[in-house]
Amino acid sequence: MTTLMLTLAVLSQFVLAAHALRQGDWFLCAALAALPLSLLTRRGAARLVVATALLLGAGQWAVTGVQFVQLRLAFDEPWLRMALILGVVCSLCFASGLWLLGERAKAAFPRQREAEIPQTAAFILVIGLLALARANASVPVLLTDRFWPGSGWLETLGLGAYAAWLVGRMLDARTHKRLRPRIWALFSALFFAQLALGLGGFQDLLMTGRLHLPVPALIVAGPIFRGGGLFMPILFASTVLLVGPAWCSHLCYIGAWDDASSRLGPKPPRVLSRRWTIGGRLATLLLACGGALGLRLLDVPPLTAVWLAAGFGLIGVGVMFFVSRRLGAMVHCTAFCPMGLVGNVLGKLVPWRMRIRLDHCTRCGVCARACRYSALTPLEIEAGRPGLSCTLCGDCVGACPHDAMHYRFPGLSATTARAAFLTLVVALHAVFLGVARI
Ligand code: SF4
Ligand code: SF4
Repeated sequence: MTTLMLTLAVLSQFVLAAHALRQGDWFLCAALAALPLSLLTRRGAARLVVATALLLGAGQWAVTGVQFVQLRLAFDEPWLRMALILGVVCSLCFASGLWLLGERAKAAFPRQREAEIPQTAAFILVIGLLALARANASVPVLLTDRFWPGSGWLETLGLGAYAAWLVGRMLDARTHKRLRPRIWALFSALFFAQLALGLGGFQDLLMTGRLHLPVPALIVAGPIFRGGGLFMPILFASTVLLVGPAWCSHLCYIGAWDDASSRLGPKPPRVLSRRWTIGGRLATLLLACGGALGLRLLDVPPLTAVWLAAGFGLIGVGVMFFVSRRLGAMVHCTAFCPMGLVGNVLGKLVPWRMRIRLDHCTRCGVCARACRYSALTPLEIEAGRPGLSCTLCGDCVGACPHDAMHYRFPGLSATTARAAFLTLVVALHAVFLGVARI
């Protein structure tokens, strides 16, 4: 029975691929035909992903069937045989998808079953978000589409598979702690490599060619100076509304530098006082916003403003390489960058939180030694919650030997909250890898 249903599922998937080919979409055909290969891994997520594709495919067959019948009726042509054939194809697709969700299929895919839901969700989120971006952007947003039009489906599939793999690994708190700086650095390196190559003449590697400086403060200061151009503020705010301040621990292309630099410094990291984490960043926020407004009111030429912004960015780089490195803490992000403060404050609007189970906590301070964001002073540990500068990086979860640190989201257990948070943040990371360029 299992072999029969699996064969049916694979054949149904191939028929869907053939349908894409009939519409002339070679790359979608290849992506749909490649999807059943994942079943060979015998991972739970592969079963759920193929099941989702088949159920969506059955819906597509139903719509196609109705359209064809209406067309034939309009031209007074015979339609019954075609309707029956499409009805059978649709039913087999639906039945095999449904079977994959059942208990027998579950038994046939025993590997990484505990991770199957986050992995499937991450995969579907990446595919969905990238499909939306591709459908709505005025330029090809994925690199592969620029070189081989239509091949973005294969890149989308690859990024979805990457997200599923990554979230599976990061569900283990210690692996999350180890992998987070690496994937963050990978994202930043790809971002800046594309920028450098784009400026060096490979224009296809730029998004629009309309350059802006990669200085996070310009997310707020840029629109104030220009009086428009809200793409980055909207992207930043939507990210914060999804994953709280995790922009500053998983997604920002500059924050990765501060992370890398602070890791070269002493351990444990120096803890910055609130005077710096709040006062320092409030001062730069006022400087960035007030400065941008002043430059605009004074009608300062854009080129002069660009030089001033570049100067601000360079001071930030200096803070990373000299101060963060010396103190082992992320001084740039927790005391200099205004967007860090904006992320921390806006992040309070969403319910993701890091909390300390005081009944597990022995006050040993291991978590504080892992925190580079100066969010775990003895007072904050005593209060059971990190300070404002916490970015939900998760390093303390992997460090705490007493299982006291945990993610919290109302209505979810600590394990589910963490899995849901990681699913979202990893999906965003994979999407950013695909589309983030200047
Ligand atoms: S604080 Fe600024 S530079 Fe650091 S991660 Fe956040 S936005 Fe990026
Ligand atoms: S308290 Fe924990 S999650 Fe928050 S920034 Fe520090 S190490 Fe990261």
